[in-house]
Amino acid sequence: MLKEKIEKLNKLDSKLSAIFFAQSLLEWDSETIASDGGVEERAIVAGEISEIYFNTFVNDETKALLEELDERKEELDQVTKAIVFLYKRKFYNIAKIPVEDYTDFQVLISKSYSAWEKAKNNKNYSIFAPFLTEIIKYQKKFIKLRGKGGHPYNTLLDDFEPGITVEILDEFFSELRKNIVPLVQKVCDKQNNEIDFINKKFDIKKQEEFSKYIMPKLGFDTSRGMMTTSAHPFTLNLSRNDVRITTNFKEDDITNSIFSTIHETGHAIYEQNIDEKFGLSALTTGVSMGIHESQSRFYENNLGRNINFWNVNFPVIKKMYKKELNDITVNDWYRAVNHVKKSLIRIEADEVTYPLHIMVRYEIEKMIFSDDIDVNKLPDIWNDLYEEYLGIRPENDAEGILQDVHWSGGAFGYFPSYALGSAYAAQFEHAMRKDIDVDKALKNLEMDEIKEWLKDKIHKYGSSKMPSEILKEATGETFNPEYFIKYLYNKYEI
Ligand code: ZN
Repeated sequence: MLKEKIEKLNKLDSKLSAIFFAQSLLEWDSETIASDGGVEERAIVAGEISEIYFNTFVNDETKALLEELDERKEELDQVTKAIVFLYKRKFYNIAKIPVEDYTDFQVLISKSYSAWEKAKNNKNYSIFAPFLTEIIKYQKKFIKLRGKGGHPYNTLLDDFEPGITVEILDEFFSELRKNIVPLVQKVCDKQNNEIDFINKKFDIKKQEEFSKYIMPKLGFDTSRGMMTTSAHPFTLNLSRNDVRITTNFKEDDITNSIFSTIHETGHAIYEQNIDEKFGLSALTTGVSMGIHESQSRFYENNLGRNINFWNVNFPVIKKMYKKELNDITVNDWYRAVNHVKKSLIRIEADEVTYPLHIMVRYEIEKMIFSDDIDVNKLPDIWNDLYEEYLGIRPENDAEGILQDVHWSGGAFGYFPSYALGSAYAAQFEHAMRKDIDVDKALKNLEMDEIKEWLKDKIHKYGSSKMPSEILKEATGETFNPEYFIKYLYNKYEI
């Protein structure tokens, strides 16, 4: 009997994964090559496929199956247990919300995206405010329905980083505040600011050539994935054997494409390295946003902004841009790609100021879900926090509260995973350095040893373990932000 139930679960997993595959392919197509003309039909198809997913998944039969297997979980193997856990979680997240509310919310967020875009283009928050008010109202209602007690914001945090709570993040961010705010000031006072050469004109064809050179060098398997361009770089995995990334080229900023490519390659290597035994399953994807970000940031910052990495790779770029980089040394380059600047825009921030941008968003989200906050006051709160943490104040809402798309899609609780990613990356690096001479590997461009370590300790598990388990088993201890602070101080204290 149990065997039959497990077979039924595997069939369901396979079917849902196939539907998800189709949804993802459609998303890839819309974000990359699809023409604007087809937007309406694509939306209809996306809606139909979502409904198929919903009906296949949310019904009494699935509920009974998951409950029964959960009751007998001690008899299940590790992989099946993980599948049951994952689907049970997904099931109750959706099933506790009445269908009408679920659908109304989907309609609201699709409308609110256009409102956000218009508000941002017009630098006018009041266009977006009514939509944001509604989205918050829905999220508060959903939290009541599916929350597990504790701080209301915890329910949303758990969607992106299972196990993370306000209590953990309060401590994390207070450590960061105490240490990073003074560090930023120190670095900005002392560093050499002559880095204008980065903004010369750099031929885009050659930038693309460099991206295609560096991806396989880092460990990306080009026979199981590809790269193209999109407005906002992202990674999409159809399966572990078809992982796609996008990057973005700017003629007047060569570092933009280089670090976007390295960042997305980090995400992609994670997906390509997941154990093939999971096949086409819900387990064949990174376990959480925070762990995923830790891998992209590890490649982008811990490896990609290391001097040893550039000692071997800067000559390649210099050869491509003989005229533009004629009198630039590898040290000039290293300084430029690690330049710290108090800026207003999160996605342009360096690795030292970046967590401060996240802290602003965390404080505001926490406020929203703790109190009955007046949505119209949020831009002022935002600007005050930027002044407090970074010492600068946005002049308009486009460079302030309207800069990120996340809230228009209802994604509250997402931002902290970016900062957690950087902190996890530092903790992983500390553990890795006990086993591997990372600098030597970078110097010789021998990335396999690094990739294998990550595969063995993190990647191969896919979603079959909790983020906290992966961290503990890979590094020997629970989450400890000290490593991130030490990493920053070692690198930047000048
Ligand atoms: Zn990322």
